Amino acid sequence: MSLNKYQNFTAKDYIESIKMGDIISLSKAISIIESSAVKHLSIAQEILEGCLPLSGNSIRIGVTGIPGVGKSTFIEAFGKLLTSKNYKVAVLTIDPSSNLVKGSILGDKTRMIELSTDPNAFIRPTPSGDSLGGVAHKTREAIILCEAAGFNMILIETVGVGQNEIAVHSMVDFFLLLSLAGAGDELQGIKRGIIEMADLFVFNKDDNQNTANIRIAKSDLERALHLFPAKDNGWNPKVISCSALYKTGIDEIWNLVQDYIKLTKNNEFWDKKRNQQNKIWFDEVLKSDLLYLFYNTEIIKNSLVNYKTQVQNQSKTPIKAAQELIDLFKKYFNPNKQ
Ligand code: GDP
Repeated sequence: MSLNKYQNFTAKDYIESIKMGDIISLSKAISIIESSAVKHLSIAQEILEGCLPLSGNSIRIGVTGIPGVGKSTFIEAFGKLLTSKNYKVAVLTIDPSSNLVKGSILGDKTRMIELSTDPNAFIRPTPSGDSLGGVAHKTREAIILCEAAGFNMILIETVGVGQNEIAVHSMVDFFLLLSLAGAGDELQGIKRGIIEMADLFVFNKDDNQNTANIRIAKSDLERALHLFPAKDNGWNPKVISCSALYKTGIDEIWNLVQDYIKLTKNNEFWDKKRNQQNKIWFDEVLKSDLLYLFYNTEIIKNSLVNYKTQVQNQSKTPIKAAQELIDLFKKYFNPNKQ
């Protein structure tokens, strides 16, 4: 297949070939959506609108944990299990470090070798963009495109660094936290906010000499979980261990995910959560589009530096400067109004 054929691709062409499961189109369309170039805005929008009706029919799972915990090894093992069960698996990795430093925390080529050559898998790193809000809604949009291309299992991998998990939690059905045991302070290592978000806690590297440590860590965590209020969806977060490297415990994890799906589909929390997430998505898009509109309006572009200088040399307070800029913005769109 010639790559030239993509040169003059319209939004409709992208939508059609994504629907046919064409991975190159999918990849290119995700790049268009991630691009912040003005020339891409309308085609990105059109592709997204075209793909939306074909989306939603998947299981979206978030996988998080500190660097080195075994996320990519786990996703490789879990992803292979899923493709062996005829799922089409898309892995979207969010690496917050990738545009700060050259080398990224998640690394690149050596990760997930088996899965990356599996015809039923698609692995795509997502650049973290210039803001967390940006990451979240670009990743959401990448999910939509993957689903339209027929991927019915979406794994979102993120490095456990604070805000990032919150963003991922707001776009997945199920949230899995990978941890390690052995240091004796596992519970301190798991932040409270994350405990509240996780549906499943997995102690990885349950192999070699590590089993006794893991047993202790598991029971400590289980005890701690009792102190948290029950969740509205009726699911009690579970604690389990696995060895991603030796592929043990992976089936059990899949069974628990299925239990969760069954429970929340039966009690309607599955749809409820997705609907809530749509509201969050709407808020994010609205906020980031408004910011974009504001900062790209001629009068703001022309005045911003001047205002920043005035704030810096204290000739204007930040509040007054912000108010004046917003007044300029309002006047720009409604010049006749006082
Ligand atoms: P990530 O940074 O969280 O993606 O972690 P990786 O998947 O790259 O794994 C980090 C290191 O831990 C690698 O050397 C892996 O081979 C190793 N590792 C991952 N899972 C396991 C496991 O279950 N058992 C053992 N012993 N090592 C593992």
